[in-house]
Amino acid sequence: MIIVLKPTPNKEEMERLITWLESQGVLVHASMDLSQINLEVVGDTSRLDKQFIEALDVVDHVQPIRRFERCTDRKFHPEDTVIQVGNTQIGGGSLTLMAGPCSVESEAQVVAIARAVKASGATMLRGGAFKPRTSPYAFQGLGEKGLDLLRVARQETGLPLVSEIMDVSQLDLFKDIDVIQVGARNMQNYELLKALGRQDKPVMIKRGMSATYEEWLMSAEYVMAGGNNQVILCERGIRTFETYTRNTLDITSIPFMRRLTHLPIIADPSHATGKAWLVGPLSQGIVATGADGILIEVHNDPEHALCDGEQSITPEEFDSLAGKLTRLHGFMKEL
Ligand code: PEP
Ligand code: MN
Repeated sequence: MIIVLKPTPNKEEMERLITWLESQGVLVHASMDLSQINLEVVGDTSRLDKQFIEALDVVDHVQPIRRFERCTDRKFHPEDTVIQVGNTQIGGGSLTLMAGPCSVESEAQVVAIARAVKASGATMLRGGAFKPRTSPYAFQGLGEKGLDLLRVARQETGLPLVSEIMDVSQLDLFKDIDVIQVGARNMQNYELLKALGRQDKPVMIKRGMSATYEEWLMSAEYVMAGGNNQVILCERGIRTFETYTRNTLDITSIPFMRRLTHLPIIADPSHATGKAWLVGPLSQGIVATGADGILIEVHNDPEHALCDGEQSITPEEFDSLAGKLTRLHGFMKEL
């Protein structure tokens, strides 16, 4: 409830009103809008008598509760959001298969992988050009050149691209990247999220390693509040006490996000486990729990990969997995 006071209100009367409101168990925050003083009343306002308050000398009128509707909330947007990317779509009952190397390493590497995953049914090519590495001494990605090589692979295969941005200053470089990825480490980089809200490319937000559902949704809210409604959520595992796997895939988040939001939800079994042999079984779990898509790291020479070789599957393994996942997705729709 917002209590709008008369211009230049009597100070004592105003203080008396605040004290009385607080005695009713609500919190009061006085804010000044030009010369206008408003009392924002938060808490259980159901016991407060609006007419009684409006009858006070110091009060001009009481505004009905201002509800901050959330753009991400399914309550206010019951239909699923479907995002069109090139000639493929994310959400709306389809299964998006995003596949490609952790990092772009060379033209030969990224084009060979792109051709292979496309032939196996991938609908988007992933590849990191700017890499957020734990160690500053590890391979940091090819940067701008990496984005150029992704463009070559797109030209060769027609696959739309998804690649990670690390900083607001890189925004111009991503102008023609089909889906801009915000990595787990940047999920709460609010300046980046705001800037992504002001441009019109779809944004895929990976869940932070220790982010709650609420925090993750709020990151999506930042992008949407800026006017960009094309947001995809990507579950990629969270930090737990388990050390056998790189992270722990929180499969619960898939149906939970489906309930909370209309945004498409996809999942990444590669970063979730850090182990190539776990990518297959977890992918099946992801599809079975209703995800709109899956993001998988594929490398044509995992042993020599410059980044995340242990969790990368080969194009041959992807080929057999993609077939299984497409069949499973069809089966789940009929169930
Ligand atoms: C990635 O997708 O290459 C990546 C770095 O993932 P995450 O942000 O989930 O760790
Ligand atoms: Mn990776």
